[in-house]
Amino acid sequence: MKLYNSATRRKEDFVPNHPDIVKMYTCGPTVYHFAHIGNLRSYLMEDVLEKYLRSRGYNVLRVMNITDVGHLTSDADEGEDKMLKGARREHKTVLEIAQYYTDAFFDDCRRLNIKRPDVVQPATGCIDDCIKIIEKLLADGYAYCAGGNVYFDTSRLERYYIFNDFNEEDLAVGVREGVEADESKRNKNDFVLWFTKSKFEDQALKWDSPWGVGYPGWHIECSAISMKYCGEDLDIHCGGIDNAFPHHTNEIAQSESYLGHKWCNFWVHIHHLNTTSGKMSKSSGEFLTVALLEEKGYDPLAYRLFCLQSHYRKALVFSWENLDNAQLAYQKLITRIAALSPDDGTPEPAALDALREKFNAALDNDLNTALAVTCLYDALKARTSDATRRAAIAEFDRVLGLDLLAKAEARRAADAKAAAAVSAAGQRFSVVAADGAEDTEITALLLARQDAKKAKNFAEADRIRDALKAQGIELTDLPGGVQWRRG
Ligand code: AMP
Ligand code: ZN
Repeated sequence: MKLYNSATRRKEDFVPNHPDIVKMYTCGPTVYHFAHIGNLRSYLMEDVLEKYLRSRGYNVLRVMNITDVGHLTSDADEGEDKMLKGARREHKTVLEIAQYYTDAFFDDCRRLNIKRPDVVQPATGCIDDCIKIIEKLLADGYAYCAGGNVYFDTSRLERYYIFNDFNEEDLAVGVREGVEADESKRNKNDFVLWFTKSKFEDQALKWDSPWGVGYPGWHIECSAISMKYCGEDLDIHCGGIDNAFPHHTNEIAQSESYLGHKWCNFWVHIHHLNTTSGKMSKSSGEFLTVALLEEKGYDPLAYRLFCLQSHYRKALVFSWENLDNAQLAYQKLITRIAALSPDDGTPEPAALDALREKFNAALDNDLNTALAVTCLYDALKARTSDATRRAAIAEFDRVLGLDLLAKAEARRAADAKAAAAVSAAGQRFSVVAADGAEDTEITALLLARQDAKKAKNFAEADRIRDALKAQGIELTDLPGGVQWRRG
């Protein structure tokens, strides 16, 4: 498999450090609010990468942190702790906030078919591991104490910027975010490893340390948690593109200085989901959640398909129109799969191999999920048996995670029920909802459409169909009636 490595800015052959395991670390959510569908784009694409590696026979150890302390409102170690801000907003304790939004995050993941990582570790459970690393960094001269805090000394590194070649002035976080410079820092990119002094003295969670009572900076938790579970090396480290600097840059600085050798081979960054007015962000307070999509009648897996249809290294623009198209494509795909015969013998090995080869080739090329999705349509169109088509789709969907066969099965059962209802209604023309719902307005429109058809007024019949389609209602004409469903 070729995978783009942000650290080398090239696609490289993916070869794990150890033949029997792929060690994969993901920066988890900061649990002070709901995850938005932009955050979830990152986790969703990482989920596909993990599932694809597993499908190719790799044993994957996937580790994720939960940021429940130390992430300040500015990436430049400034401002108050985001968790505290969340707790104040909701009149709850920091721990209550953390638990609530961690549960909400995994609930969203479940709805989007994102597998839970093998290890999920909140930062507050690893304070001793952070302290151990900071102690060694201090002993080895990579860190210093100033103004009550412990800082990492970036001037000790030959190369600090890993992911970009930009002008250092532009990247200095203090400058970038227009925040007050921290007078205790020796170099403008130095970052806090341990806080005992912050402008926000009401920090809720604090621990004893050799440098006084305080709390860890945001970056150290990921180095500590990764090393605790994956040891001294990592194959893949993932995160959203905004994590590349300063967060991942600082993770590399402290981890490699601590270990004395290279730490992680592949850095995989997922690009952002943007709204038409810019990046979707939690801190702006205006963002879309999975629950909101569901409230509006979207299947969360239609959002999954929407994400899969574009490459993870391209920014993706969210619009309701784009999501409508994905939902329509998803429903149509299910309809076509539901039409496959469920008992058509055993799959043909040669035909299945040919389909699989194309699917794997797509994902082998830096996880080209858009092309992998088109392999589902190739399977439907292939000159082969329905059993082969179903087998290919089942296999691909173990990676894509769209629940296609289960949804198609449910669709077939609903259609059979509706057909039975139409036939039980005898001679009269019947209008049946796929989910058994009653809607007098829709029924009236569909009876009017039937009258128009009878009178050969096809323009009127089409107009009614189109008007319903615009409301997301799909029609299936059956002998003696019509069935409708919300798409
Ligand atoms: P946070 O909960 O803010 O720590 O972010 C969780 C993950 O979501 C990180 O990997 C971020 O890089 C990523 N992320 C944040 N905003 C977006 C976005 N608009 N699109 C995609 N990923 C994002
Ligand atoms: Zn991290």
